[in-house]
Amino acid sequence: MKIDVERLVLEFKNLLEIESPSKKEGKLAYYLASIFEALGYKCFFDKSAETTGSEVGNLIVKIPGSIPAEPIFFCAHLDTVGPYKNPKIIFENNVFRTDGRTILGADDKSGIAALVEVAKILKETSPPHPPLEYIFTTCEEIGLLGAKCLDTELIDAREGFVLDSEDPEEVINAAPSSYQFEIRILGKSAHAGIEPEKGINAIKIASEIISGLPCGRIDEETTFNIGTIRGGEYVNIVPDKCEVKGEMRSHNENKLQELKNLIEEKIESVIENHPKIENLPAAKVHFNKVFKAFFVPEDDPLCQLVKKAGENLGMRLNFKRIEGGSDANVFNEKGLKCLVLGTGMRKVHTTEEYIHLKDLILTTDLVLEIIKVKSEMAG
Ligand SMILES: [Zn+2]
Repeated sequence: MKIDVERLVLEFKNLLEIESPSKKEGKLAYYLASIFEALGYKCFFDKSAETTGSEVGNLIVKIPGSIPAEPIFFCAHLDTVGPYKNPKIIFENNVFRTDGRTILGADDKSGIAALVEVAKILKETSPPHPPLEYIFTTCEEIGLLGAKCLDTELIDAREGFVLDSEDPEEVINAAPSSYQFEIRILGKSAHAGIEPEKGINAIKIASEIISGLPCGRIDEETTFNIGTIRGGEYVNIVPDKCEVKGEMRSHNENKLQELKNLIEEKIESVIENHPKIENLPAAKVHFNKVFKAFFVPEDDPLCQLVKKAGENLGMRLNFKRIEGGSDANVFNEKGLKCLVLGTGMRKVHTTEEYIHLKDLILTTDLVLEIIKVKSEMAG
């Protein structure tokens, strides 16, 4: 099972050149489907497009096993952030980057390229391997939408790997829960100079609520942020509306519940203690779960599998907790146990994004080795 480096480079460049912003992943998805179909693998789209609003559903590829073993899945997302228009890919000194006008899109096409190369190698060399499933998700960058709408009935595997992190020597086995919240405050407008006593200043009330809330790092596993505040139209009018948005993250769900309670209590006490005019002021908070925390302990067989594969390759893999979300949060919540692997992509979501060829090769090797160790375990 040997990587054809020239082929890998060429295919990676092809993938990078196909624009695939969120919701417009169609071209890339059909290109990938044509590759896998040409290799003789079954490909299909799920029905997630109806909900995500993308051109296509999540692309699922089934690679039949050559030995009886538990199936395993690998996932990478199809979409990229911007700026993405007319990318000019530069491959120099074994590093991929752009001319600086656009992102590179190694997030997450490095993961896709590794999986494509692996599929080609399996076809060529037909080594013993378990059944594999590839899940290429849409709309990851705009709230993990593709993963959230994935119909898990279509997936046979119950565990796998998401290729969507930076450092190839790090394996992400824990990520936090995240909630966003929106506080809407209703006051009463009045002329600020002529009759301010007839008004209720919604911005002032917002400030009282905010000042009663924590901000920044709460403890080693919890953060809290007020991100935006909007209200008021003219300087000479008492503003009747104000909207405050924020987010909070924690590896401990209970702490988020406490913070939610705190926000509600704070709003209630500020509103209660404010003099009323016709039942105003009023305020409401709305919470939206963005993703749920996951944790796969290091002694779990899935961690042991990747650890063994890394050792075989002479890699020093570290298990790591991150503070962001990925498709892995959604999959773990849906009962598809998974870890996140780094691919070597760097400075993602910037126009300075780059990746070293050696890391792309390492990622491909690690996927191949995981497959090999998995089949040895089955045998
Ligand atoms: Zn990504």
